[in-house]
Amino acid sequence: MPRIAYVSGRYIPHADAGVHIEDRGFQFADSVYEVVALVNGRLCDEVGHLDRLVRSLGELRIKVPMPRKSMEMALREMVRRNRIKNGMIYMQVTRGVAPRDFVFPKKSDTTLVMTMYPAKYDIPARKAAVKKVITVPDIRWKRRDIKTTALIGQVLAKQAAADKGAYEAWMVDDDGFITEGSSSNAWIIDKNRNLITRATANNSILKGVTRSALQALCKKEKIKIIERKFTVAEAYKAQEAFCSSAVALIAPVVQIDDKKIGNGQAGEITCKLLDLYMEYATKNGGKQERWNPA
Ligand code: PMP
Repeated sequence: MPRIAYVSGRYIPHADAGVHIEDRGFQFADSVYEVVALVNGRLCDEVGHLDRLVRSLGELRIKVPMPRKSMEMALREMVRRNRIKNGMIYMQVTRGVAPRDFVFPKKSDTTLVMTMYPAKYDIPARKAAVKKVITVPDIRWKRRDIKTTALIGQVLAKQAAADKGAYEAWMVDDDGFITEGSSSNAWIIDKNRNLITRATANNSILKGVTRSALQALCKKEKIKIIERKFTVAEAYKAQEAFCSSAVALIAPVVQIDDKKIGNGQAGEITCKLLDLYMEYATKNGGKQERWNPA
């Protein structure tokens, strides 16, 4: 079974898929993206991801490539053609192909690209795969609410983590507060069992779809979440910590820089959240849930 990619209306073998060298996504990172998990055949938080895609496009004045229904059908067609039950779908929309000029082209058709790859959702293994994170300065631009493919800040942060044998880099603003991970939202749990994660105000972080789903699940379960900034020093003293994203789901963190968090194993609340999220994803993930319209 060859992997199948989607490029602006055509399903093609992954190895043959490509875009034009004057695509603005390639030349200017003039493009946005989404990653959607496929869990047990269901597209997880599809509504939230498509809502955010449309919002990101709107913020950059890029045309939505096709009506919502067609987008939903194209996603399903990718799943069908790739014959994957558990995996990830990557979607990218660019402003399209035009002679290189910083100014928006007067006329261009947006490019929509989708790729897909398999993933495993082995929850005991995910709980056991505890992670180390490092902290790095947040050197990114100020519109982190837009999910653009201008990811060089995150690439450098993630590489700094990889260089130190860490899974993720938590980025720190000029005032010493953690913003988010290079490709995930950052969470800590204090000694009063409160979950703490940065608020999405001032566009300082991406409003993670997984983060929003967790907020809704916690509300149902009466688990308290406090949305506020937290410093690196506070994170070092956390009882538990984790990262959330569509790819990682909930990744337990047991070390931040050289400070151990908890007892070296995934924390009790972190594990509970992962169980709750998986239950939601497997049973309800395909339903049209709208946690927080963008
Ligand atoms: N923050 C950043 C910077 C990210 O890149 C991601 C993942 N794309 C997230 C947070 C998590 O977002 P989501 O839960 O929607 O995957």
